[in-house]
Amino acid sequence: MADGDEAAAPGGAERLAAVCGHLEEIRADLRSGPGGDEDPVEQVLAAVQDGGDLAGTLAVLHAVLQADGDPQGLDGYTDHAGGIRGLQPAGISTTRAEPIYVCPAGRCARYWWPQPVVPVPKCAISSTPLRRERL
Ligand SMILES: [Zn+2]
Repeated sequence: MADGDEAAAPGGAERLAAVCGHLEEIRADLRSGPGGDEDPVEQVLAAVQDGGDLAGTLAVLHAVLQADGDPQGLDGYTDHAGGIRGLQPAGISTTRAEPIYVCPAGRCARYWWPQPVVPVPKCAISSTPLRRERL
């Protein structure tokens, strides 16, 4: 693994969004993998809280998930088909002022479109509901 390249690579916010939105899935996958423990994702959460080496811990988590048999690693966890690439997904009209929910901590690239019967999800990193914004 090329640590220097990973740290400089774009996508930290997107990878953190995967953790934010899929923490329990990631924990379950880590527990069922060969390593059998959640430490890699706990290290990411600790880095967020303490201002530690976030890019480094995300790279380790990504590599562990890949080693567990998921070639997409962390990039495979996304709320949005086709990947998470900013706040203007192709094909969605934003001519109306549509509310959108974003990460309350402002640390990750997660976003969520309101759905009528679905409660607003919580950010797994800050344990608070996503924050409502307008585009
Ligand atoms: Zn978040």
